[in-house]
This record gives sequence, structure tokens and C-alpha cells, in this order.
Amino acid sequence: QAKSQGKNTFRFYDAELQAVLATRAALESELRQAIARQQLQLHFQPQVDDSGQLLGAEALLRWQHPDRGLVAPGVFIPVAEQCGFVLELGSWVLDAACRTLASWATLPGCQALNLSVNVSALQLRDPQFVTDVLKTIQRHGADPRRLTLELTESLLAENVEDTIAKMQALRDAGVGFSLDDFGTGYSSLNYLRRLPLEELKIDRSFVNDMLGDPNSAVIARTVVALGQTFGLQVIAEGVETPEQRDALLRIGCKRFQGYLFGRPTDQASFERQARQGVAVAS
Ligand code: C2E
Ligand code: MG
Ligand code: MG
Ligand code: MG
Repeated sequence: QAKSQGKNTFRFYDAELQAVLATRAALESELRQAIARQQLQLHFQPQVDDSGQLLGAEALLRWQHPDRGLVAPGVFIPVAEQCGFVLELGSWVLDAACRTLASWATLPGCQALNLSVNVSALQLRDPQFVTDVLKTIQRHGADPRRLTLELTESLLAENVEDTIAKMQALRDAGVGFSLDDFGTGYSSLNYLRRLPLEELKIDRSFVNDMLGDPNSAVIARTVVALGQTFGLQVIAEGVETPEQRDALLRIGCKRFQGYLFGRPTDQASFERQARQGVAVAS
């Protein structure tokens, strides 16, 4: 009985695996066509300071799929990373982001805004990365000092010297770096000290749990203290309630991003909000 059940279970998983792989293959080939078919777009989520003033936005990639609807990056970025397509995807994102950033220079309500862009590990490993970023900035006439690249810790684990050199080259041109999802990875403090960063981003999981879970609260406080020690800005992501914002304010966090201040929205909506002075919950 157990044996036949085991067999069935095996066959069930086998079929499920087949289905997953088939979906994945379809996703992969459709993703490769998404750029040409103009199905990709950037959404923008506000980032604010401790007085609610709009500082800028994080650009978040969206895929408007004809049948699947709006596909979240959590679904397709990993696929793109595994099939190597993330380099092309990343170039598209940087191009779109720099175009937007350049257009903000003359747009009321947006002139002083910063734009943060997520960068995948594989992009940073690409020997062309620094040149590509600089060329893209120049092509659009964007101000590099208003561009921040968000990296994750996982990405930094290998090839530290190469990573630092590339970051430094972009830093010299004015580009800033933020360490995304901070606290979820394994960077050593010594390593953190050596990276030319401007900002640490407290991972949303700690913000979400900090009011009920003392460990998360301690981690959030530690990230803020680390930021102060190393002279880095600290921004909290995933701030959803005034209580979370107040708790973050009490531990000295001065920058926020999350549904409390605005969800990611298309460019036109974001720019409208920025012009009106972003609606800030209090
Ligand atoms: P991330 O960089 O940590 O981005 C923050 C994610 O948290 C976004 O999810 C955002 O929509 C979500 N979020 C923001 N505020 C809140 C909140 O208050 N509550 C909750 N529950 N969620 C909130 P999204 O847009 O689905 O992106 C997921 C991840 O996909 C990003 O995490 C980033 O790692 C990756 N990603 C997004 N765009 C790009 C891109 O252009 N390139 C690369 N390489 N990765 C990207
Ligand atoms: Mg990010
Ligand atoms: Mg993050
Ligand atoms: Mg996160």
C-alpha cells in the first residue's frame, strides 16, 4: 500500500514538475519577446523623508502579459536570471529609468527627485556593466547624482574586489548605491565597510514583524545603528502602517518606502502625485 502510494506520489510530482517546466519554458520564450512587443514597463513607488517630503522613487519592473495580466518581477526575474536574459532585461530597465530621470529634470514636482533602480547580480558581473550604465546615462542626459543602484547582499558575496572596483567607478561618476533587503543575507561587517555605499535598505520582513517580534525589532535597530556608524542613509521598505513608521522614527530611521506612502504606480500617476505633493498618510 505504502509502496503504491509512493509510486502515485512520485508520478504526481513528476507530472507537476513537467507542468512547471513547460510553464517555465513558455515564460522564457515569451519574456524574450516582451521587449520587442513593448510589454514591459516601469512602475514607480515613492520614497519619503521623516517629514513626509518626497525624495524620489524606486523603479519596479512590470510585465504586461496579454493573457497572464500584470506579471510580478518575483515570477519572471528569477527565470530571466537562469536563462541569461536578465542582462538584456537589465539594459532595458536602465534605459527606461534614465529616460525617465532625464525627463524629470524639467518636470514640475519631479526636478529634485532621485530614482533607484534594481540591479541583478549577473548584471554587475558583466564586464560591460560600468560602460553600459555610463553610456545609458549620457545617452539620455540624466544626472548620475540622481541615480541610485540597488544591489542585494547575495550578489556581493563573490568576486569582492571586482564588485568594489565597478561600484567605485560608477561612484566616481556620481551614481549612488543602496544595499537592498539588508539583513537577510550574510555580509560581514568588514566587507560592508569596504563597499562604496550610500544607503542601507531595511528589508520589508523586519519592518513587517518589528512591532510583534523582538528579534526583528533588534535587527531593524541594528541596521540603523550600522548606518550611523558607517555614515550611510537608512531607508525602511514595506512600511504599511503609521505604527510601523513611528517605531522606525523612534529608532532613528529617517527614510521610508511602503504602501503607507504610496504603492508602485505607472509613470503618469506617479508624476501626477509628485506634482500635487505626494499624499502622505499621517
Ligand atoms: P525589492 O527591490 O525589495 O522591491 C520592493 C518590493 O516590495 C516591490 O515588489 C514592492 O512592490 C513591494 N512593496 C513595496 N512596499 C510594500 C509594502 O508596503 N508592503 C508590501 N507587502 N510590499 C511592498 P515587486 O515590485 O513585486 O518587486 C519584487 C522584487 O523584484 C524587488 O524587490 C526586486 O528585487 C525585483 N525587481 C523589481 N524590479 C526589478 C528590476 O528592474 N530589475 C531587477 N533585477 N529586479 C527587479
Ligand atoms: Mg529594490
Ligand atoms: Mg528590497
Ligand atoms: Mg525586500
